Amino acid sequence: MKSKYLIFILLLPGMVLSAQFPRFRALAFYSEEVEPAHVEFAHDAIRFFQDLTVGDGFVFDVTSDMDDLMRDDLEEYSMILMLNDFPRTQEQRQAFREYMEQGGGWFGFHVAAYNDRTTDWPWFVEFLGGGVFWRNSWPPMPAKLIVNDALHRVTWALPHTFMSPANEWYQWDPSPRLNPDVKVLVSLSQDNYPLGLKDIIPDGDCPVVWTNTRYRMIYMNMGHGNGIFSDPTQNQLIISGLRWVVASDKKGNVFEK
Ligand code: ZN
Repeated sequence: MKSKYLIFILLLPGMVLSAQFPRFRALAFYSEEVEPAHVEFAHDAIRFFQDLTVGDGFVFDVTSDMDDLMRDDLEEYSMILMLNDFPRTQEQRQAFREYMEQGGGWFGFHVAAYNDRTTDWPWFVEFLGGGVFWRNSWPPMPAKLIVNDALHRVTWALPHTFMSPANEWYQWDPSPRLNPDVKVLVSLSQDNYPLGLKDIIPDGDCPVVWTNTRYRMIYMNMGHGNGIFSDPTQNQLIISGLRWVVASDKKGNVFEK
């Protein structure tokens, strides 16, 4: 009797810790004022991530006000998601940069990484790994993707190749892969080329999912239209991306508590 009682006492602290829900907070930014297919994706993404909060595993807050980057409590969020937009004003950009440089987490989709000569934000180009938007495919089409790193926590459950649902694909110049700080996890297969009917990606390196290891961030090029969450393999990739960014929080891996 005595030893059983002791075991109960020893287990108790672990049981109390594992009962601490929600484990983390995420804040998603999106815009209703952008390309309709990007708004459709954002609505689907919000539903997808909200469904993952079942059981209060985490808090998923949503805002369409980019000025919320200046919220006093931003650092309480383990990660922010940019579903279809990016910081535009100097104040928003400064707040975003400070959040990231202080260890914040970022999960960006599709147009969230868009930048060109008019964007005028060199820090953001560096943050993304150095690539500037070069060209796109059109119309939206499925594409064969290749997993470049089968050992990374984000991709290790994926098959070596898989078909990704219809998307508008972006190509970057220079390729982020050329940056030694960037780890490319998934790319367009060369088998897709020439990809597109109106706008064509004819050739070249085309990373689709990558992380700049100098920050706690992941980017996925998916994010155009209402079919992105129609594939279980890709959904698994997206969930793994969310989980990996949160797990690498400097405050500790909440999934190991
Ligand atoms: Zn698009």
